[in-house]
Amino acid sequence: MGASAAYHLASRGVKDLILLEREQFFGQGTTGRCAGGVRYQFGTEVNIRLSLESLPMLERFKEEIGQEIDYRRCGYLFVLTDEKDVLAFQRNVKLQHGLGVETEWLGRDEICKRLSMMNFEDALAGTFHKKDGLVDPNSVVMGYISAAQKLGIKALNNVEVTGIRLSGEKVEAVETTQGLIETRTVLNAAGPWSGQIGQMAGVHIPISPIRRQMFTTTPLKEIPRDFPFVIDFAQSLYFHRDGEGLLIGMSNQNENPGFDSSIDEEFEVINLEAALARMPLIEKAGRAAHWAGLYEMTPDAHPIYGATHVHGFYLCTGFSGHGFMHGPVSGKLMSEFILDGKFSTVDVSMLDLARFEEGRLIKEYNVV
Ligand SMILES: Cc1cc2nc3c(=O)[nH]c(=O)nc-3n(C[C@H](O)[C@H](O)[C@H](O)COP(=O)(O)OP(=O)(O)OC[C@H]3O[C@@H](n4cnc5c(N)ncnc54)[C@H](O)[C@@H]3O)c2cc1C
Repeated sequence: MGASAAYHLASRGVKDLILLEREQFFGQGTTGRCAGGVRYQFGTEVNIRLSLESLPMLERFKEEIGQEIDYRRCGYLFVLTDEKDVLAFQRNVKLQHGLGVETEWLGRDEICKRLSMMNFEDALAGTFHKKDGLVDPNSVVMGYISAAQKLGIKALNNVEVTGIRLSGEKVEAVETTQGLIETRTVLNAAGPWSGQIGQMAGVHIPISPIRRQMFTTTPLKEIPRDFPFVIDFAQSLYFHRDGEGLLIGMSNQNENPGFDSSIDEEFEVINLEAALARMPLIEKAGRAAHWAGLYEMTPDAHPIYGATHVHGFYLCTGFSGHGFMHGPVSGKLMSEFILDGKFSTVDVSMLDLARFEEGRLIKEYNVV
């Protein structure tokens, strides 16, 4: 979010902008730990509209930003084994069709035919959208940062924000481990850590960091090149091709909020057993790598965009586990809001911070 916002502000002529990252390298936070999935298949109009703007920006990335990002249109195939999910997805697909997203509805036989190396005899239905796919997160972050630097902005790593100095209810400066930066405008794009930055400015942001983990396998020659991003929705279990092997993850529904991002070995075994039951051939593979990251969950699984009661303190955060794909459009939206005072590309004004206090929550069903 920070890299994209920096680029979009710079492309609108803003030069006195500093992107701050506390880690040694950019993109090592949640973005560097994500699965790289990009999809149009969502259950709310605003999320579908965000994808309709953001994914074409990724398609044009090489030509506009000058960086190859390895966009693979393998499609997302959601498999549904629970009657209540079938009803919800029927509604979602109707909404997607109404907005021009041509998601296919699949029956069990078609799912079993397309995923012949998997066990989905219990499937009730499924959905597939061929333009969903995978993108390399690091290339997107580095592409935006290099392009923004060429436009004249500064991007500093190894600089941690430690405080926000206010004058009354206005931003005055940012305190960092490398000194004070005087400014009237701060964009909080600190992902799962945004709540901490909010506290520094006296702004409560309802974000819970939730650990999510995954592993990759050694090569499996049986996995075809066009293998889709498969999601066993009821178990939040997913598989996609990663190099010559697979990336496999599963969301632990009993995970408690917290900043621990070490691997939960016990849950990894549960994940592996669930994966083996769906795809026995992974028994032949070894584990190549594993890691955990943090989802940045809001109470309604939608992001938070816009202003706060502190003048000059803006938010672009809370993407609830599916924000990488919306990074391009979100940076653009924040450049519009900061410079023009309104969102033009997509109307996300309903996704403001005030909605939590005012009870205007918009629930997204399609969270993995
Ligand atoms: C396991 C996993 C799988 C995922 N899979 C997908 C997927 O397939 N598709 C998808 O679209 N999304 C996915 N996501 C979600 C996605 O990764 C996030 O929504 C998105 O990356 C959030 O980006 P961000 O810029 O808000 O946060 P981040 O990438 O975390 O960036 C915030 C940055 O702020 C820095 N920071 C924090 N505090 C400070 C401070 N005090 N001072 C200076 N810097 C600070 C951090 O170091 C970090 O680099 C996944 C997430 C996880 C954990």
